[in-house]
Amino acid sequence: YTAVALILGDQLNARHSWFRKKRAHTLYVLFEMRQETDYCRHHIQKVVGFFAAMRNFANALLRAGHHVLYLTLDNPDNLQDLTKNLEAVLSSCGSNELWLQQPDEYRLDTQLSEWQATASANLIWQDSEHFLTERDALIQWFGEKDNYLMEHFYRRVRKQTGYLMSDGEPAGGKWNFDKDNRKTPEKTHSLPEPLLFAHDVSELVDLLANEEVETFGNIDRKKFIWPLTRNEATQVLDYFVSELLCHFGDYQDAMLSEHWALYHARLSFALNTKMLSPRTVVEAAITAWQKNPQQISLNQIEGFVRQIIGWREFVRAIYWRFMPDYGHSNFFQHSRPLPDFYWTAKTEMNCLQHSIQQSLDYAYAHHIQRLMVTGNFALLIGADPDAVDAWYLGIYIDAIEWVELPNARAMSQFADGGKLATKPYVSSGSYINKMSDYCKSCAYKVTEKIGEEACPFNLLYWHFIDRHQDKLANNQRMALILSQWQKRDEADKKKIRQQADEFLKSLSS
Ligand code: FAD
Ligand code: SF4
Repeated sequence: YTAVALILGDQLNARHSWFRKKRAHTLYVLFEMRQETDYCRHHIQKVVGFFAAMRNFANALLRAGHHVLYLTLDNPDNLQDLTKNLEAVLSSCGSNELWLQQPDEYRLDTQLSEWQATASANLIWQDSEHFLTERDALIQWFGEKDNYLMEHFYRRVRKQTGYLMSDGEPAGGKWNFDKDNRKTPEKTHSLPEPLLFAHDVSELVDLLANEEVETFGNIDRKKFIWPLTRNEATQVLDYFVSELLCHFGDYQDAMLSEHWALYHARLSFALNTKMLSPRTVVEAAITAWQKNPQQISLNQIEGFVRQIIGWREFVRAIYWRFMPDYGHSNFFQHSRPLPDFYWTAKTEMNCLQHSIQQSLDYAYAHHIQRLMVTGNFALLIGADPDAVDAWYLGIYIDAIEWVELPNARAMSQFADGGKLATKPYVSSGSYINKMSDYCKSCAYKVTEKIGEEACPFNLLYWHFIDRHQDKLANNQRMALILSQWQKRDEADKKKIRQQADEFLKSLSS
């Protein structure tokens, strides 16, 4: 072979220009490695999902006539380290050219760049041909600033792509229809079931057990539910546009005990592994809306398009703008470990119990469960952002650092002090009660602000405001809340402080 071409586990992009023609002298390589199973403790469905999708991708390349070397985790030739494996392959096939697609994670980008100086081959870096924007889009468009607004970024991408634009103006005359998106389904509303697969992944589950890979979470080895090929990912996309998009915006923030996926697309794993491209997803959704505007209103399509071309691209740009310091940020100087129930779901707080249990069962929770339940609680108790990051990076099937870190560390924990979000996403129990049915069957009472039965979110919310008054004082969006707290009766404040302290102590024990 004259060239070796590396395909990472999140580069399963069958439409990449590499594969347009058969290259008789190129060897495509994919490795299952301990380096990847062990950099963090992952949910078992995440490791199985990645390895199974990689195996399918390698087989599809072989069927299409490409040359492929696939090292399974237990292959004796596997050195379990990316650059060691690459050196070994390059030397055994005598190639002096290594093609790479630009990695999305800082960790891998650094590993490969540092190795480049001593590598026995020339490294030829190419684009992954997945994203709509460049890594350094924030600097290119807005210059070197300390913080950036998603809304500005999003409008720029809308204009650049022409998505949901008409004659240079946003479709419907507004950029954002979020105000229409805060509904919870009526009791009589019947929700569609998510489209699930039933793959037998026993071989991979056994492999992980034999190799003693440490994972957590639950898996049904005969019924693995996630899409593992581009074709299956396309089925999930088709199902989304035909059955779910019509209410995507409406119920985007809703949480229901009996429905773990509601109208969410469940496309993040397919997108983050690059089995599907953001363009394919957004264009399928826009086409469905154009064909059927009666059924799919503008707030549904705009809400969805904003997640993909706005938030998803924006968090990537933020990640590359502020790494590596971003990964150590800790604005509030929080240091508490996460409570054990984040790994067991054994808690009497019903919202946390449901959100964590479904994460353990499906390696999935939707955005508001991540942000306003598990993330909110972690921030209110003052959890260490490193611990929070490790948990989110491990538990979700879609978790890759470039997208996990800005969401978890910055958006949900405000550890970056406001580079990404304009205020901390904290709330008392009333928000959770408004958007979910969790409080109805909780051991605590959401309406109680103090006393034994009081919802812990209510106590912790004010405790958070109280202990961070100095840090929040400069944030205009927190001014009203801060002044409400400051005006409160001293005796009341004392009771809240005491009870919240007791609760926090009980977490450590
Ligand atoms: P939908 O709700 O149907 O949204 C459609 C798509 O929009 C998603 O597939 C996703 O690609 C994109 N999207 C929506 N919101 C975001 C966002 N904030 N950032 C990036 N993309 C977004 N997403 C990940 O892909 N990986 C993560 O590791 C991850 N960690 C998160 C951690 C926290 C604390 C929070 C608050 C959010 C996190 N998100 C992460 C964003 C979001 O929660 C998930 O993308 C979404 O829940 C995936 O489910 P879905 O495909 O059904 O999404
Ligand atoms: Fe969560 Fe409080 Fe509601 Fe219980 S009462 S479900 S702890 S918000």
